[in-house]
Amino acid sequence: MSFTSDGNESIPTDFDDVVQQVSTGTLAHQRIDELLLEAHERYADVDEGLLAHYIPILGQVEPDTFAISMSHVGGTVHGAGDCHHQFSIQSISKMFVYALVLQEHGHEAVHEKIGVNNTGMPFNSVMAVELNNGHPMNPMVNAGAIATTEMIAGKSAAKKWENVREGLSAFAGRPLTLDDEVYESESEANERNKALGRLLKSYGRLDGDPNNAVDTYTKQCSLNVTAHDLAVMGATLADGGINPVTGQQVVSADVCRDTLAAVATNGLYERSGDWLFEIGIPAKSGVSGGIVAVAPGKGAIGAFSPRLDMAGNSVRGQLAIGHLSRALGLNLFASAPDSGR
Ligand code: GLU
Repeated sequence: MSFTSDGNESIPTDFDDVVQQVSTGTLAHQRIDELLLEAHERYADVDEGLLAHYIPILGQVEPDTFAISMSHVGGTVHGAGDCHHQFSIQSISKMFVYALVLQEHGHEAVHEKIGVNNTGMPFNSVMAVELNNGHPMNPMVNAGAIATTEMIAGKSAAKKWENVREGLSAFAGRPLTLDDEVYESESEANERNKALGRLLKSYGRLDGDPNNAVDTYTKQCSLNVTAHDLAVMGATLADGGINPVTGQQVVSADVCRDTLAAVATNGLYERSGDWLFEIGIPAKSGVSGGIVAVAPGKGAIGAFSPRLDMAGNSVRGQLAIGHLSRALGLNLFASAPDSGR
């Protein structure tokens, strides 16, 4: 599976009959349980999409698992389906590692080194790096993510990995563990990422050893999470950097703002524009089938279902989040005429 979109195909939508609520600044949280169940029931039979066979072990998972979880910034977490089913976080790790790196190095340095603009090309494109004079372009494509991971604090590869794992665990509010089988499977199939690492190095865009950077990146992608974890991790970015369940300040509010902007422009691979147009909230997906969508000041949705569209985004996950975004008034661009007139 190449995950190469032809540009004509768009993201799946099926919620025209759901009344579009506007973004009011408060979450209608008394309706969350009902709406999560409604979305789960409505999309549980959608069987379009393919598993991510390019990482052998991801091609062997149960395709029908489906979970949706939502965490309110007040700390309550709701769920429908298999919300505690574990899967590897994959690309969703990129946004949280990016937040940790922003916290460490600041807005300017990270903006300059990593960038925020969409490449318009697949997430693992070598051509995108070549066309941009070795600039990784944004933190959500593999080249940018490898360069971002390299910027994590720590003198040795082991220390960097420890900081990544601890940082992502702070977002989740529990210690996250490595899925050894996924890590091994992915390490055997990541020649392309190693090539990206070396290419960045050849352009002087990576300071350290590219193989170490790719290895830490592969490990971060192999951390196990659940839909519940994704909701809490996302809600931390919706809550000015405070994990709403543990109360820990994980990153600053400025870092949350910057991270969500980068996610909004690049989170759904080359469908990121379609996603904003249809759904209207920053979201990041990963090829194991997870998606996290963040409604700033309100909360976040974590969804999981492994069948992917041609760009690499969970089909059911997109539908469920679209449904909830509409019904809960999460779309950042939706307004209603001022009632005081
Ligand atoms: N570890 C995967 C890779 O590097 C992540 C891809 C993704 O989830 O987008 O190919």
